[in-house]
Amino acid sequence: MSRTATPGDCGTACQFIKPDYAAMEARVHGRARDESRPNELFFGPFQQMLRARLKAPAEGAQWTGITSRLGERLLETGAVDAVLTMAPDPDDKWKPRPVIVTRAEGMAQVRGMRMGYAPLLALLEPARAAGYKRVAIIGIPCQVHALRHLEEKLGFERLYVIGTPCSDNTTTANFHEFLGLLSDKPDTITYLEFRADYHVELRFDDGRKKAIPFLMLPLSDLRSDFFPLTCRTCVDYTNALADITVGYMAGEGEQWLIVRNDRGAELLALLGDEVATAAPGSSGKRAAPVKGFMANTERAAGGLPLRRMPNFLRPIMGWLMPKVGPKGLEFGRARLEMKAIETVLHLRREAPAKMKNMVPAHVWKLVAPYGIMPGKDEARD
Ligand SMILES: Cc1cc2nc3c(=O)[nH]c(=O)nc-3n(C[C@H](O)[C@H](O)[C@H](O)COP(=O)(O)OP(=O)(O)OC[C@H]3O[C@@H](n4cnc5c(N)ncnc54)[C@H](O)[C@@H]3O)c2cc1C
Repeated sequence: MSRTATPGDCGTACQFIKPDYAAMEARVHGRARDESRPNELFFGPFQQMLRARLKAPAEGAQWTGITSRLGERLLETGAVDAVLTMAPDPDDKWKPRPVIVTRAEGMAQVRGMRMGYAPLLALLEPARAAGYKRVAIIGIPCQVHALRHLEEKLGFERLYVIGTPCSDNTTTANFHEFLGLLSDKPDTITYLEFRADYHVELRFDDGRKKAIPFLMLPLSDLRSDFFPLTCRTCVDYTNALADITVGYMAGEGEQWLIVRNDRGAELLALLGDEVATAAPGSSGKRAAPVKGFMANTERAAGGLPLRRMPNFLRPIMGWLMPKVGPKGLEFGRARLEMKAIETVLHLRREAPAKMKNMVPAHVWKLVAPYGIMPGKDEARD
């Protein structure tokens, strides 16, 4: 937004200044998250949650390609003139580059996840100037928050918002550093995902695959500011202001859809029987792992939560966790509570004066079961 004709909008639209999720959810979805409905406190307002996969997975997609296929279907059916999203930079496949896609075939090039930041919303003015009136945008939560602030002013005839969850992002340069710790030939890595079974999956250009348990990751070798404070204190993991959120966190090895409003339902319907869906599962108990995470975050004193565990135990725990740890929706709820705990602990340490504005009421409710309460001047009135 700082690159648009009205950079001053950053002051109100930025998620990291004074977000008002209750008011924005009410405006976008017709109602704010309703705590009497199971799971809305965690995942935001929704009509339907599903475990899902494309029956024919798209090549090059991060999971089965539901996200990019939605964009493709919108273009194929003429529902939109353009889709604003991220393509890989021609000089660095891990660097996101904002693009305006106007032909359905063009969506194939944007498939896959890239770690990094790029000015997606700077394309809104060029899209409008090009005469595109019906537009879709695929974005991570911080992009969607700002977009929702601008939406009315932009005056598009129709706007579809497809969101993905985002736990932590970092610069592409930092990401390359991480890849360098995972392999002695980092340039050969073509795919990376933090899976819901507590493993990072890597794929290589010779077709090899490797799954590394989270506990075995070389996180302690990364700088404490590897993830910026904004990502460490983000209160919108699930992209609550999108029409539909397409992720994997609660999908138990498949994808996870959160259909939030009628437009989201319209998007899902575009996939017809290309998509297989089921009710999401849930098992295990999250309290102990969340408490463990909280203790580690406290001990890490602002850095990445390091497990104080003897090295010989790590492979055993890495093997055990996918079997006994929380799964499906319970895993999703665990991650939401962990993110909420991180928000409070990191802000208290690094930017206490910002807490009152940056921590919405729903976050305080997520951390309360773990004994974290707002201190004086920390919560909004
Ligand atoms: C930084 C990051 C962190 C994420 N963390 C989680 C998580 O913790 N839990 C979870 O469930 N899901 C997370 N996701 C989403 C997940 O990686 C998949 O993108 C999602 O499940 C969709 O899979 P797909 O096969 O449908 O996507 P595809 O059909 O392959 O399409 C992926 C879409 O994501 C867009 N994209 C790729 N990189 C970026 C980027 N850097 N910024 C903005 N858009 C981008 C592409 O342009 C494309 O439109 C994250 C995504 C990103 C970018």
